[in-house]
Amino acid sequence: METHKKGSLHIAFICCTLPQRGKKPDMELAQFQQIGHSLADQGLVYTQSGNLSMRKGQELCITRRGSILGNLTIADLVYTGIFKDDQFTMLASSELGVHRAIYKKTGAEAIVHAHPAHTIALSFAERWIIPCDMEGQLKLCKVPVIGEESATAKPGSYAGEIADALSDAPIIVVRSHGSFAIGKSLDEALDYIVILEQCCHILYLRRSMRP
Ligand SMILES: [Zn+2]
Repeated sequence: METHKKGSLHIAFICCTLPQRGKKPDMELAQFQQIGHSLADQGLVYTQSGNLSMRKGQELCITRRGSILGNLTIADLVYTGIFKDDQFTMLASSELGVHRAIYKKTGAEAIVHAHPAHTIALSFAERWIIPCDMEGQLKLCKVPVIGEESATAKPGSYAGEIADALSDAPIIVVRSHGSFAIGKSLDEALDYIVILEQCCHILYLRRSMRP
C-alpha cells in the first residue's frame, strides 16, 4: 500500500511537470507505445524487462524503472539529463547509465533494449554473431557480443564497452542479457532488434539440423 502511494505521487509529479517543461509527451507516448507493443507481441521482452529512449537535445526521454513496455502510459516516460542528474533521474530505467553513455559516444537519436531468447542463447557461445541468411548478411554483417564468458551481466553493466561498440555497429549483444540497438528513430532501432533475433533463430535451427 505504501509503495502504491509512493508510485502515485511520482506519477502525479511527472504528469504535472511535463507541460511546464515544454515537452510533447502525447506524441512521444504514441511512439513509445507502438514500439513497446511490438516488442511485447513478438516476445522480445517480458513483464518489466527492456527499455526505450529518445534523445531530446541535452536530455533524453526514457522509460521509467520497472515499466511494462507492452502497457506504457504517460507516467512511464521520464525526462532527465544526458550529462547531469536532476530530480527525475531516480525514476529512470536501471539502464539509464548505458543509454547516457551511448548518446554521449554516438549520433544515436533513439535506443531500444530487449531480451530476445535466441539472441541471448547464442550470446553464450559466440564472440561475434554472424548471420547465415541473406537478409541478415545484408542488414547486419556481424554483431559483436560484449561481456565476460564466466559472468552474468547485471543492469547497467558494460556501459562504456556498449557505447564504444555502437559507434561502429547499429546493434550489439551483451552476453547472457540482451541486445541494444540504435537508430535515427525507435522504429529503426526496433528493426535491428527484430532482424538480429530472426537471424539467431535461423542459426539455431540450422545448427540443430546438423548431424
Ligand atoms: Zn536488460
